[in-house]
Amino acid sequence: MGKKLLLDYGSGGLASHRLVAEVFFKHLKNPILARMDDAAVLKLSGPVAVSTDSFTVDPLFFPGGDIGSLAVHGTVNDVAMMGARPLYLTCGFILEEGFDLDDLERIVASMAAAAKKAKVKVVAGDTKVVPRGAVDKIFINTTGIGEVIASPAPSGHSARAGDVVIISGNLGDHGLTVLSCRQGLSFEAPVKSDCASLNHLVEKLVTGVDTVHVLRDPTRGGLATTLNEIAQQSNVGIVLEEDTIPVDPVVASGCEILGLDPLYLANEGKLICIVPAKQMHKALEIMKRDPLGRKARVIGSVTSDHAGKVVMRTGLGGHRMLGMLEGEQLPRIC
Ligand code: MG
Repeated sequence: MGKKLLLDYGSGGLASHRLVAEVFFKHLKNPILARMDDAAVLKLSGPVAVSTDSFTVDPLFFPGGDIGSLAVHGTVNDVAMMGARPLYLTCGFILEEGFDLDDLERIVASMAAAAKKAKVKVVAGDTKVVPRGAVDKIFINTTGIGEVIASPAPSGHSARAGDVVIISGNLGDHGLTVLSCRQGLSFEAPVKSDCASLNHLVEKLVTGVDTVHVLRDPTRGGLATTLNEIAQQSNVGIVLEEDTIPVDPVVASGCEILGLDPLYLANEGKLICIVPAKQMHKALEIMKRDPLGRKARVIGSVTSDHAGKVVMRTGLGGHRMLGMLEGEQLPRIC
């Protein structure tokens, strides 16, 4: 049995200092964090993008990632989608008394590796330990801060009729992986979360393509819900071509068995890119050259018809309205 977290590790006293030194600093230390003042002082220029997200995924560890790497990728991606270069993260941990210290260290080390790869620094943090049962093992909140480098910055409000909709790769991998892991299900081949930081790919896109109207990561609610948000924000219609939507065959058959629709499953390493038709080739070329965009493809277009709605043209020539996700099908997916 490994060491367990005690309530006094969150007391702010000696035990907390030891936990901070032995786990958090050991992995996340950098000159800004190391100053240990009440707040970090950051140098930033121009418009700044800020996003915050809380991570409660169950189970904590899953093929392709864990709650720590997810807490970095999720927030880095939201900041990046504004055409920004994420630079800093803050993280807040709410920990349950009795949580395994080795697991905590594994999670923090995974955060550190993800942050290093994304080239972001953790500059402030907080730890609370709550009594058994007050939280399930560990919840993490991260806030990301970045400098907006695109001008004009992409936004959900900027899709225009005539634009094309590009997706960076296969859909549904994260949602199906977490769900199958939680329920102990296995399929004919292993599935793996796509969880990854997309900021380097975004930087290449916004610096290499003349005009990027929208970037958004289809996380909770999946592609269908995210496109509905964009259609409403921009007051345009979106038409998808079913045959072009990329789904890994193993994920597709897993979804069929479980009665899930991959268009509504969460992704954690994919982005939707909406650009004017004349920018399509350049955007695709840039995406395909990046390992995280290798399977990028055009899946639809933006129209002035049926404003605020998403319609899918099916393989058989019919039309299917894609609404937003209703209810919570998969709680604690991220
Ligand atoms: Mg997002």
